[in-house]
Amino acid sequence: MTLAGMHFVAGRAEPGDGETFTGVDPVRGHALLPEYHEAGASQIERACAAAGAAAAAFAATTPAVRAALLRGIADGLEAIGDELVLRITAETALPAERVHAERGRTQLQLRQFADLLGEGSWVDARIDHGDAARRPQPKPDLRRMLVPLGPVVVFGASNFPLAYSVVGGDTASALAAGCPVVVKGHPAHPGTSELVGAMVTEVVRAQGLPAGTFSLLHGRTPATGGAMVQHAAITAVGFTGSERGGRALLDLAAARPQPIPVFAEMGSMNPVFVLPRAMALRGTKIAEQLAASGALASGQFCTSPGMVLWLPGPGAGTFAAALRTQVGAQRPGPTVHETIRKGYEQSLAEVCELPVAVHAVADGDVSAKTSVCPTLLGALPDAVLEHPRLRSEIFGPAMLAVPCREPADLLAIARSMPGHLTATVHGDGDDFVTHAELVAVLRRKVGRLIANGVPTGVEVCPSMVHGGPYPASTDARFSAVGTSSIERWVRPVCWQDWPHDLLPAELRDDNPRGIRRMVDGVVQ
Ligand code: NAP
Repeated sequence: MTLAGMHFVAGRAEPGDGETFTGVDPVRGHALLPEYHEAGASQIERACAAAGAAAAAFAATTPAVRAALLRGIADGLEAIGDELVLRITAETALPAERVHAERGRTQLQLRQFADLLGEGSWVDARIDHGDAARRPQPKPDLRRMLVPLGPVVVFGASNFPLAYSVVGGDTASALAAGCPVVVKGHPAHPGTSELVGAMVTEVVRAQGLPAGTFSLLHGRTPATGGAMVQHAAITAVGFTGSERGGRALLDLAAARPQPIPVFAEMGSMNPVFVLPRAMALRGTKIAEQLAASGALASGQFCTSPGMVLWLPGPGAGTFAAALRTQVGAQRPGPTVHETIRKGYEQSLAEVCELPVAVHAVADGDVSAKTSVCPTLLGALPDAVLEHPRLRSEIFGPAMLAVPCREPADLLAIARSMPGHLTATVHGDGDDFVTHAELVAVLRRKVGRLIANGVPTGVEVCPSMVHGGPYPASTDARFSAVGTSSIERWVRPVCWQDWPHDLLPAELRDDNPRGIRRMVDGVVQ
């Protein structure tokens, strides 16, 4: 396909009419054609209005129809072929093997939602039969299930050009729920977005779905995304990116005449605690794993480990030395765009104004325009407790080492932490029992507790929780990864004393979809 700078507005490919921009090669810094124009007000209006117009018809499609859509998109990702891989590597500098893996993950996400729809029980159907003879009041017949919210605006993330972009987890889960999607493409990979947007537009057309089921708009100013969030037809927002961006959208959505939910997945420091027995047994190995995890993809994972804490004791000195050596032995690498490199350097500069030591900086080729160097910083517990900046994310390959004096330091720092996506605890023998209070504090702070591992590597499966208390996400009750992420785009509706033949199939007595339901308090 020849890229032509197209937006896709409810089935129509069209150029924008605002300011121009291009993708940029993160290694050499040159522009990648074609030019893209920022979406104009008319395009935003038409894309959002078409999503609103399509909402009822798309919500009424059967699970089988939506499953076919998701499978069609998953197959389409493969069908674009090497052109997609080449464009992603050019726009993001992510290596080809990572792009292949991410495409596989994105297809897996789409197909897992198709399977979820096929099984059908996710609608959480509950039936309480009426009892006209009940005294003093007859009991009404009540039946409830989850139904789609309506059109969703999805903001593509820069660090996952497929898995959290045009047809990433947010789009897949919203379409599965029965919600039309209007994507705001990330300006760091507009060509990738156009390739995928064209494919989805064709799948929607070929399957005879309403044109407003999917639109893709390009833009690189907050005004475009802001206008989409404020459009009256939009009922929810999915976002992955910075705390600043997520918070701005949350505030914007709350200030609408009719406020809507924003499910933003933002920053996290993903603290790692190494407890004494684990330290004595395998401190050097833990240092090796941590350094590699922190430098993975130039630290551009929201689950990248940003802080490691430990206690004095056997192995602690060797661990600290090994961590310096291992971080120093990593290689600099490019980030997906200039803003991330600048943000990384600015964050390091801010932190280095505080009582912090630089323990190690990786050496190597920094010729790429967006190169960042894995860096190990060190701070004492009192400094971490005094300066909130030391307890907040540096997006990129930086890690703060915090040697603690006693268990009370670990506890105090854990208590002072804001919400995170994950916390990792390395323990052995009675470590977890001795430090049960620390584990209890961490459980209140995070969405995922990891024993003896690294936080990077987010498995896509039904039990995954990728979210956490603010600022890890704007709503800790939900996950942005895994099939449970569909719960963000639905709401419960209850039918009271409704004519039986007019009820949704999921709520009829004969259970034609054969799904698991709770009937009169019993799951069956
Ligand atoms: P970002 O700045 O948060 O932008 C993400 C998306 O949100 C972009 O499409 C951006 O659109 C839009 N956006 C941001 N602020 C907005 C606002 N006030 N109003 C409307 N739309 C807004 O993320 P990024 O460009 O990917 O990277 C910048 C920083 O985000 C990184 O340095 C890092 O700190 C963080 N980040 C975090 C994660 C994570 O997984 N948690 C992932 C990637 C990045 P425009 O570009 O058109 O304004």
